[in-house]
Amino acid sequence: MWPADDPGQIRYLCKNINLFEKGEFKNLIEKDIFKMGKLKKIAITGGKGGVGKSTVAVLFANKLAKENKKVLLVDCDVECPNDYLLLGKKLGKAKEKIYTEFPKLNKKKCKKCGLCVRTCRSNAIFQAPGDYPILIKDLCSGCGACWTVCPFGAIEPKKEETGKIFVNKIERNFYLITGLAKAGLEETGPIVTQTKKFALNFAKKVKANYILFDTAPGTHCPVISAIMGCDLAYTVTEPTPMGAYDLNLILDLCRKLKVKAKVILNQANLGDKRKIEKIAKKHKIKIEKEIPYSKKLVEAYSKGQLLKFNFI
Ligand code: SF4
Ligand code: SF4
Repeated sequence: MWPADDPGQIRYLCKNINLFEKGEFKNLIEKDIFKMGKLKKIAITGGKGGVGKSTVAVLFANKLAKENKKVLLVDCDVECPNDYLLLGKKLGKAKEKIYTEFPKLNKKKCKKCGLCVRTCRSNAIFQAPGDYPILIKDLCSGCGACWTVCPFGAIEPKKEETGKIFVNKIERNFYLITGLAKAGLEETGPIVTQTKKFALNFAKKVKANYILFDTAPGTHCPVISAIMGCDLAYTVTEPTPMGAYDLNLILDLCRKLKVKAKVILNQANLGDKRKIEKIAKKHKIKIEKEIPYSKKLVEAYSKGQLLKFNFI
């Protein structure tokens, strides 16, 4: 689902993850950020998968740490986080568990009015004529609209563990925070939100200077959740037609989320970078950094030894 051309759709998606409307996002995250003063929040993103986003995130965090800044790298690719592998670490014991509320129907109270079905924007409730509604958990984001609107209190929220948060200390002044969604979970935006909230509190505790959010590929809900509220987004891409196409999408999204974006071109010497330059020009953004292909970097990536490099 691609929402960036439809602000209504973005609002709806963000509403589902309790971020946009009613100011929850502001309450949960922005307020904390403002209190923290100098903390810089940077998203490392890029529509296309496999362009080296995590590599850039790790290298960037390492560079800042080497400059004596206190850095948190937050892996928001919660369906398959891999920053810990690139850093040669194990996740270990979870620091915190994430819970999501899902609806549970009480048939004794249900009058089969169908209001919950009409309200659910995720099409997660099905109702055959004259029958009780059926909740389809795989499609449910846990937004709470159904139990809020039910006039008979027939839907109750039930908490379930949906993810975990891990913390690794990489260096004296460099921490990695990893969000991990439960396998098979369809709606992972709330896991990103919770991971981000945890990371912001952690940043306050350790007095961090920088917090880097390494997002999932794509432009869907978990990516929106990771980018929202950041001061800057580095959009990593590669000089290929797909790289250019997805760069256009992610830059559109950043603009709609009002987050300033810059482009990092990875493997810059391997393809036709004019396509990337054209997209960057269209968005009035310059290519901030070009990273050439390096066999040594690829080897270090595969061995979890990225900290040895200083490419950024
Ligand atoms: S809104 Fe409540 S009463 Fe109406 S169908 Fe849904 S659960 Fe039943
Ligand atoms: S079933 Fe209820 S909680 Fe789940 S997405 Fe639909 S309205 Fe939201």
